[in-house]
Amino acid sequence: MTDLTVRTLEASTKKIPKNTVAVLRGKLRGTVALPGEDGYDAARTIWNAMVDRRPALVARCLDAADVINAVKLARDEKLLVAVRSGGHNIAGNAVCDGGLLIDLSLMKSVRVDPASGTARVEPGATLADFDKEAQAFGLATPLGINSTTGVAGLTLGGGFGWTTRKFGLTVDNLISADVVTADAKLVRVSEKEHQDLFWALRGGGGNFGIVTSFEFKLHPLGPEVLSGLIVHPLEKAGELLPEFRRIANEAPDELTIWAVMRKAPPLPFLPTEWHGKEVLIFAACYSGDMEEGQKAVKPLRALGSPIADVISPHQFTDWQAAFDPLLTPGARNYWKSHDFTDFPNAAIKVILDAVRSLPSPECEVFIAHVGGAMARVDANATAWANRDAHFIMNAHTRWRDKAQDSACIAWARQLFEATAPFASGSVYVNFMPEDENERVEKAYGANYWRLAEIKRRYDPDNFFRMNQNIRQT
Ligand SMILES: Cc1cc2nc3c(=O)[nH]c(=O)nc-3n(C[C@H](O)[C@H](O)[C@H](O)COP(=O)(O)OP(=O)(O)OC[C@H]3O[C@@H](n4cnc5c(N)ncnc54)[C@H](O)[C@@H]3O)c2cc1C
Repeated sequence: MTDLTVRTLEASTKKIPKNTVAVLRGKLRGTVALPGEDGYDAARTIWNAMVDRRPALVARCLDAADVINAVKLARDEKLLVAVRSGGHNIAGNAVCDGGLLIDLSLMKSVRVDPASGTARVEPGATLADFDKEAQAFGLATPLGINSTTGVAGLTLGGGFGWTTRKFGLTVDNLISADVVTADAKLVRVSEKEHQDLFWALRGGGGNFGIVTSFEFKLHPLGPEVLSGLIVHPLEKAGELLPEFRRIANEAPDELTIWAVMRKAPPLPFLPTEWHGKEVLIFAACYSGDMEEGQKAVKPLRALGSPIADVISPHQFTDWQAAFDPLLTPGARNYWKSHDFTDFPNAAIKVILDAVRSLPSPECEVFIAHVGGAMARVDANATAWANRDAHFIMNAHTRWRDKAQDSACIAWARQLFEATAPFASGSVYVNFMPEDENERVEKAYGANYWRLAEIKRRYDPDNFFRMNQNIRQT
């Protein structure tokens, strides 16, 4: 093997002697993969097919010691580093071109302690891994809506999903974490240890270190939850969405309703004549008693004349994976997102105009419903600042053909601009594409400067920079 050319933190390149790679190989319980070797492509391939980057080498870690050794090498050689867990982030920062990729996707252990109602989760675990294990004990913690998403990136950005209104954000349920810092030390963070770092990790993304283990609080839930879809023709959305807003505003914490606008997928319960036509879908989940749930969803079910209504008890793990077929890896994706405290009729009109001209059949706009328990935590209690957001819009463009890149991206940007006057100005950091780094300050609002100060103390060289980067004070 010849010397390896690797990209450095200064954005230049340098040669690493072949012996250095051999030494790293010898130290890891996991493996080191170079281009063309086993595991290299698996590690560098992520959910968003727009991202096709080729690191110089990949450390496929199996434990915290592997991560420490990889960080030590990167520090000594001043290498550019990317950190990958589930590989789902839209921005693609999980992979770098030319640098060292620290791949955690093989660290997938989930250990539930039913007696204390807690779980220890490694960073490579997906939401499906976590949910399946926790549900074996009738337990859950709030996660997202697509089961192949990584627990790690989701948690570090904040994390919300079907049970957030009842149990809070994912970070509100984080008890502690093991973190490898930029000086290659393993520290445990919690309300009692390294409180500042614990505060920053709960929403601050991958800016502060590499988490090798998360400890979560769990809540009794399931095994079944009342959940499902109600599908309406898009033409009725102008009258139905203000009603959705009213019902969502009055909903108990247990009830979460998302509105999705897109072309109808070929769902088995939809008459075939609707396949491929524009529809409004209400996706609802009640995280509590089944009978109470039936009462709570009644006003939603009473709206209009739906094409289909398939709300019924579902296994929670199945409901958590209900959207997976629409969100498979391998497509090209670009997102634009806004937070809303209210969702005025004028915003609804702009969105509906845009949905009538979707640039590809897989594009959609969804309005996530948050609030409840999430809103009752102080905005400065964790790094995740946007506690007053009640609706989160995501313009999710998705297509297959590279030739459609500019049309799809332009459509999302146009919708983003047109809805901006009605939005609150903040944004969920995990929904930001790569070209939005200038929005990071807005994502953290009043918490940004505290984050910048913690960044200065824990990562003065900005060693962890492949992320929605927080600049030091
Ligand atoms: C289809 C889809 C649906 C989604 N739905 C939801 C949803 O319902 N709710 C929600 O909250 N979010 C949702 N998201 C957003 C999701 O939370 C983020 O994409 C998240 O970053 C994914 O985590 P990951 O581990 O898969 O990401 P990765 O791409 O592996 O990592 C993302 C970034 O996090 C950092 N990072 C990753 N692991 C570590 C670690 N162990 N230590 C330090 N830094 C690390 C790195 O900077 C990396 O670039 C969704 C995303 C997709 C693609």
